Amino acid sequence: MSISISSGFDSGNIRTLSITDTPAGVSAELEIVTDHQSDFYQWFHFRLANAAGREVELKIVNGGNSAYPGGWPGYSARFSEDRESWLLADTDYADGTLTIRLTPDSNAVWIAYFAPYSMERHHDLIAWAASQPGVEHRELGLTLDGQPMDLLTIGDGPKQVWLYARQHPGESMAEWWMEGALERLTDEEDAVARLLRQKATIHLVPNMNPDGSRRGHLRTNAVGVNLNREWHEPTADKSPEVLLVRNAMDATGVDFAMDVHGDEAIAAVFIAGFDGVPSITAKQSELYHRYRDTLAVRTPDFQTRLGYPVAAAGKANLSMSTNQVAERFGAVAMTLEMPFKDNDDLPDADFGWSPARSIQLAKDCLAVLAEMIDDI
Ligand SMILES: [Zn+2]
Repeated sequence: MSISISSGFDSGNIRTLSITDTPAGVSAELEIVTDHQSDFYQWFHFRLANAAGREVELKIVNGGNSAYPGGWPGYSARFSEDRESWLLADTDYADGTLTIRLTPDSNAVWIAYFAPYSMERHHDLIAWAASQPGVEHRELGLTLDGQPMDLLTIGDGPKQVWLYARQHPGESMAEWWMEGALERLTDEEDAVARLLRQKATIHLVPNMNPDGSRRGHLRTNAVGVNLNREWHEPTADKSPEVLLVRNAMDATGVDFAMDVHGDEAIAAVFIAGFDGVPSITAKQSELYHRYRDTLAVRTPDFQTRLGYPVAAAGKANLSMSTNQVAERFGAVAMTLEMPFKDNDDLPDADFGWSPARSIQLAKDCLAVLAEMIDDI
């Protein structure tokens, strides 16, 4: 049997240009497919079959024009034979080509930009979370592809906390983070969870972009729209996902918000705030910095040295959710970024940045929120 490459499944993305399968060697030339109605691409996820025991060289040849070419140097693709454990593959980047080499043990191996979080797993997460005591589930509406927008609410305190993830669907670590947040918040013997449930009402949107997720997009929804540039004026035609969630936020108000992402290029975990929003207050800014500095003390997987440049006074982009939510509600708002590469201060040679570390980070983020909840 000749080797085969396929991506016709939930969050699959690859195009096969050629396959060479001879006794002298096995290789394939591949391309990542752009998001529908968009030029963005970087997410890939495919299955390699009939290659057990053979050394295979997979060349993704269009890395140079991807959304973040700076994401490739120092990056390693993930592979899995059981779709549970995702390991780092031997990966090189040169001249626009990402070369992945592996010798699978079994005749089916999955290869992805990061450990995928499928829409099937999303439905499992919603079903599980909704069955936990004290959790309310609501479907806010439907996406353009007709998928549900899910909101989970926990706790009955006066502080309104909003946690939402995966506006950029290829950043699957964001939904692993949500799984960790839900695990902690639903643990009735966890003191942090008990305190937060008493002092706050916590609203969680585990997946802001189901259509992009299922379509195998990097950054946009079913019609090629970057949802994190829609928060100033979301529309039912282009960005119903944002419109539904922002309307729900308008109904509750927001005291604290975290928008969870992954970053392609920076090999560290960091947060970005809302510098430059017109109505920023000293208290808002002080609480943001206190959150950031406390999280850095709590976990060595978080740091404050690397991150994005901050906007000048009055120059914030209000189409981005963190800025819009800070401006609109006076909230302490932030964008959390986890790496596709690794935390280079504390690397893991087998797994790199991983689902397990994303889950643990969520638990640490909640602990810091619990320390500050009275002041927010
Ligand atoms: Zn993002």
